[in-house]
Amino acid sequence: MSFQDFGFIDPVLRGIEAMGYESATPIQERSIPVILNGSDLMGSAQTGTGKTAAFALPILHKLQAHGACRCLVLEPTRELAAQVETAFREYGKFTDLRVALIQGGVSFGPQRQQIEQGPDVIVATPGRLLDFLEQGEISLKDLQFLVLDEVDRMLDMGFLPQVRRIVEKCPKSRQTLFFSATLPPEIATMTQWVLKNPEVIEIGATRMPADTVTHALYPVAKDQKFDLLLALLERTHYESCIIFTSTKIAADQIAGRLEKLNHAVVALHSNRSQSERVEALEGFKSGKYEVLVATDIAARGLDIAGVSHVINYDVPGHPEDYVHRIGRTGRAKNVGDAFTIFTAEEIDTVRSIERFIQAKIPRQKLEGFEYIYTALFNEQSLTPGGVGKGVRTLKGYSFGARRRR
Ligand code: AMP
Repeated sequence: MSFQDFGFIDPVLRGIEAMGYESATPIQERSIPVILNGSDLMGSAQTGTGKTAAFALPILHKLQAHGACRCLVLEPTRELAAQVETAFREYGKFTDLRVALIQGGVSFGPQRQQIEQGPDVIVATPGRLLDFLEQGEISLKDLQFLVLDEVDRMLDMGFLPQVRRIVEKCPKSRQTLFFSATLPPEIATMTQWVLKNPEVIEIGATRMPADTVTHALYPVAKDQKFDLLLALLERTHYESCIIFTSTKIAADQIAGRLEKLNHAVVALHSNRSQSERVEALEGFKSGKYEVLVATDIAARGLDIAGVSHVINYDVPGHPEDYVHRIGRTGRAKNVGDAFTIFTAEEIDTVRSIERFIQAKIPRQKLEGFEYIYTALFNEQSLTPGGVGKGVRTLKGYSFGARRRR
């Protein structure tokens, strides 16, 4: 379906063209008419499906031209808020609409200036927005669109009370768009007080990783985890790689050890300052860093183009996080690989992930790596092979010795 078919105003169509989008993705095809119609929406979709444009484009179309603050988008993390704000700016760059980013961790001054300039759209994290709302510096009285994005993450992070206070300050006559990758029972309760007769749109099975991602498990003895990580990095021809760890300490330690071995690496987690987090993400996006070592803060929704590989240094504790983590690669029709290193202690977690995604993840043994024996090797279906071998072959994708710096 072409974007012309939605009847968007010309400046929005030019924004889409400038982004190089040729046709709408499935979630866009289904959500855009609903939003244009004025209905509330409850959408669940896999990561990397084009969800941001699915809500941003019809909102920009309906806002048309600069006026009062009419749209509020709530995001669970500062990184996501920044990403969505950038998307609004880019899609709307041929309109005169103004977008403000309100997030914690940075000083109030510049944000206050953005508010004074009269934004049409505010993209915010809940805490800082509430500060401004409670001091009377932002008014939501003219609000027409409320977007609650990544709601399951918002709940995980304990933002529900703040979100409730914010929703209470919004006019009742608004249109509400609600997105969540997974829909646990708590969210059902929330939808009842936030949404009015929503259209429900579910794209694909939310439990499944995108089918452009090839994933495999690498069993190993605990003492050899770091060595196996190094071997995987050395033998993989990666463009850019995110390594996920379960703790902030582990993220720092691994980044430190890789740095000593001359990898261009940076760590991203919530104990780093806002400026460090921005520098890490920008550096990773620009190619200054080839490896980003991150906790789950980076797993949700972040759109980093060209991540060719994800390595889970630890098996994620929540099965949904597995889907989110490996969803960082293989985005928007590109292909990617995800490797998960795991030890005997983690076998139950692996099984719960397999139950969740309703598929067995192939086990791999890295050829030529000097393994210490682990009982995991007695598991059936362990394929000896190099990195990626024995898994679905990917067109135009190369594996081999890598020494780039
Ligand atoms: P999202 O799911 O919103 O994070 O989007 C994932 C990626 O898909 C982003 O890099 C978008 O720029 C890209 N994208 C969104 N819509 C389209 C489209 N219709 N055609 C091509 N790429 C798109």
